[in-house]
Amino acid sequence: MTYTCLSTLLWDCVVSFYSRLRYGRLYVTVFDVKLERRLLIKCRPGSVIADVVRRKTMVLDLDETLIHSHHDGVLRQTVKPGTPPDFVLKVVIDRHPVRFFVHKRPHVDFFLDIVSQWYDLVVFTASMEIYGAAVADKLDSSKGILKRRYYRQHCNLDFGSYTKDLSAISSDLSSIFILDNSPGAYKAYPDNAIPIKSWFSDPTDTALLNLLPMLDALRFVSDVRSVLSRNLHLHRLWQ
Ligand SMILES: [Mg+2]
Repeated sequence: MTYTCLSTLLWDCVVSFYSRLRYGRLYVTVFDVKLERRLLIKCRPGSVIADVVRRKTMVLDLDETLIHSHHDGVLRQTVKPGTPPDFVLKVVIDRHPVRFFVHKRPHVDFFLDIVSQWYDLVVFTASMEIYGAAVADKLDSSKGILKRRYYRQHCNLDFGSYTKDLSAISSDLSSIFILDNSPGAYKAYPDNAIPIKSWFSDPTDTALLNLLPMLDALRFVSDVRSVLSRNLHLHRLWQ
């Protein structure tokens, strides 16, 4: 059965919606955050929601967003001594072999499985490619969900820190956003960002799980910026 209708009605931000039949007609309830109320909309037959709501791009940072790692000779206080890594990467940097001990943020595999069904995923890390590609390969686990990747060489250097240019990934800024623990990385695109608390070792962390309901709704909005611009206070909170 095909539904309908939202083309002109998904103005800005549908936080949630559901549909129902009444007197043989389809109605969709949407929540418009501008008006701050629910609207019951009678749907036109014919068009398909999938045609209206185009698939969006979710850009993912790696370090302290999806994983945390430390390398040979460095034991950060944030990693409890004796905590086994989820995997170890051996890479050669400047002709020196280096081992990275990588810890996955809790629920990251489940998170990626779910959001890959909703969004096109892109990895964007300020780390070196030789390390970032190996981490992305491990997280991808041969599923082909993290094929598109951007690394340090794709970042801009801004007063000594790396920033990520989302417009290099897509010129359509209404349909792209980044999940990153570093607000500085997306300072040119604050309305296209979801802030997340940096993760180092807390085994009880549920930040990724907590995002799923919001991400489930965000895929239906016409412009992600109309929703994410409401997050600005969180960017400062987690700096
Ligand atoms: Mg990071």
